[in-house]
Amino acid sequence: MCIFCQIIQKEIPGQVIYEDEQVLAILDISQVTKGHTLVMPKKHTADLVDCDEEIYQHVMKVVKKLSAHILEKTGAAGLNVLSNIHEAAGQTVEHFHVHLIPRYDENDAVE
Ligand code: 5GP
Ligand code: ZN
Repeated sequence: MCIFCQIIQKEIPGQVIYEDEQVLAILDISQVTKGHTLVMPKKHTADLVDCDEEIYQHVMKVVKKLSAHILEKTGAAGLNVLSNIHEAAGQTVEHFHVHLIPRYDENDAVE
């Protein structure tokens, strides 16, 4: 089972930000900036292009909602939304996920 499926099954811990029947959002274990969040479907799917259309639309609905929440509540000045597809683009976990990376200023990377 992949690492994100293990987190979804609660076999290994994750810091859950949001959860519903189809989607889980957790804090990234290696934060690019404070609040770096990963949004993923609970059903295993390799990447964005591989994802069932209906589930994809629900994932993106959650991405939109959490993006608005982060911008409103954390004091972030901006936010990067991105998904890596395939190893050549930097994908390291083959379970579709969208990164939400709050931006505070140009020196906001977590050490
Ligand atoms: P990718 O490189 O595939 O786009 O992103 C994978 C992300 O998953 C990385 O940012 C990495 O830090 C994060 N990650 C890898 N393993 C774990 C884990 O066990 N728990 C959590 N919360 N994040 C993880
Ligand atoms: Zn998986």
